[in-house]
Order: sequence, then structure tokens, then C-alpha cells
Amino acid sequence: MALEVITHIFTFMPIANLMEFASMCRTHRIWVLQYINQRKDNHLAKFVTSPTYLLHAMRITSSVISGSFALAMLLPAADVAWGVADLDIYTNFKSYHRLIIYLLREGYTIRSTTRRHSPVCYSNSAIRKVMTLDKQTRSIDVIISAFKDSTIPIFHFHSTIVMNYVSADSLFSAYPRLTSQYRALVNPLSLPQSHVNGPSCAMEKYRHRGFRIPTWSERNTPGDPHTCENNMSCPRQIRATHDRGSLRLELDIANVTDTADNEGNKVVLWRFGGERCVDGNQEDIYMEPYIIHEDM
Ligand SMILES: [Zn+2]
Repeated sequence: MALEVITHIFTFMPIANLMEFASMCRTHRIWVLQYINQRKDNHLAKFVTSPTYLLHAMRITSSVISGSFALAMLLPAADVAWGVADLDIYTNFKSYHRLIIYLLREGYTIRSTTRRHSPVCYSNSAIRKVMTLDKQTRSIDVIISAFKDSTIPIFHFHSTIVMNYVSADSLFSAYPRLTSQYRALVNPLSLPQSHVNGPSCAMEKYRHRGFRIPTWSERNTPGDPHTCENNMSCPRQIRATHDRGSLRLELDIANVTDTADNEGNKVVLWRFGGERCVDGNQEDIYMEPYIIHEDM
């Protein structure tokens, strides 16, 4: 089969299926990585003159991209009709200025700087500051972590849909199975109920994109029995960034022999929290989320 036909088939496959195909042999793995890297570069080329320079800037500032861009990378390309109009780059206080200088040189101007808690979309205690930069119709949010690790705010999010990121050389998803099924968990302790069901920026745009919040009975689907605290998609489960429920894909084609985490990223432990998976005691229906990481 011609490579262009295979690449066309790839556009209908979610990331989990692509990884399964890639695991069959080295050639498949190279095809899949080339496809994913090309897709990433095509997205980034809408924002900067050289995706290679942006990835370099991300590498030296330990920055990652989350939000719609990272979500799009997990879903089949043929499904992502909504496009990506903005970029959310997560960085840290130590090196954010280098990223800002790079973006200013790319022709972006700073529209606003807000402290944490200001916009509803970023109501997150792990965020120190958000800077929004514009260039014509493009917009980039630079989100500065309150910790040394740029990725920590991503683990504080109220919904599993947005717990994904793309680094210069890898792709990570905390809930790849749920996300590829267009399902999401929302923690009402992290997000006011009015924002879960109301037209807030937090959930509404994802609902438009076909995501829904499964009820408890839907969580217990045939073929995927839900055993609480023993299921990676359970909000009560204690999770870690390197566990079997997480998706971690190294995108560096030169390092194609294994899937090991060679980035030196710190391990983050978390419990999503929220609604209990069992009926019963109505007085205690929500569990607190928690996050444990080395910067604490
Ligand atoms: Zn459960």
C-alpha cells in the first residue's frame, strides 16, 4: 500500500489506534511518528514562521502546549473540524521571559497580563500569571506555572478533557481512553456547577465538539467494567504520570527504538476527585482532588 494511502487512513485513527499500529514494527513506528510530527508542524505553522524554532524555544524553556491544540492531536484529524484558533503555552517563571521575547520577535504583541484566578478559563491555583499575545487573527496565551514544573497547572484542571499536553518531543494524555471516546469527567469542587452546565467557556466549547459527561451507569459500560479505584478512568483512582492509564509518546524519530520517558520529567501523582462512583451516602458525594509533585 502506498504511504500516502496509509497516511490518509491515519487521519481517521485516534492516537491510541495509531500507537497500536506503531507498536507492530519499527517501520510502522517511523510512519506514525512522521505523520504525528507533520500534523503538529502544520498546526504550529499557523502561529509561527518556523515550527522548528518554536519547538526549540519550548525545549529550552521547558514549556508545553495544552488546550485545544493538544486535544486535537489525540483525536482523529478527520474529526477535528473545529480547528485551532489559539495556542495555550504553559511555562515557568524562571524562563517565561525567553518565550515572550521569542514571540515578540515573531511579531506578536502583548494584549493583556492577568493574575491567576481572573479569567474563568484559568481559575487554577497552580497558575501564577497569564499573558495573552496577539498577531492578526492569532492568539497565544502564555500561562506561567506557580511551580518550577510548567505542567503542574494541567493537573489542577476541572475536566479530564484538558489534561493533555504536547512538549517539544512528546505527547502526553492523563485520560486517553475517556478522551478518545469523547467522554469527560468534571470535578464540581474545581468548577462551580453553574459553569459545568452553564454557557461558560470552561465546558461549553467542548460540548459543541461532541464531548459529554458520562453518568455513573454510563461509566459502567459492558466490556469495560468499572471497578472503583481499580480503573484508570475512575475519579477516585490515584494516578501517576507514568502509570498504565496515561499515554506518553516520544515523538523524536531519531530515538525510535523505545517508548521510555527520556525527557527527565518529574512524576506527578494526582487524584481527580469529584463525584463518587457508587450510590449511597448523599452527604459525601464528592471527593477532594489532590496533586503531589516534587515542587511542593
Ligand atoms: Zn469509580
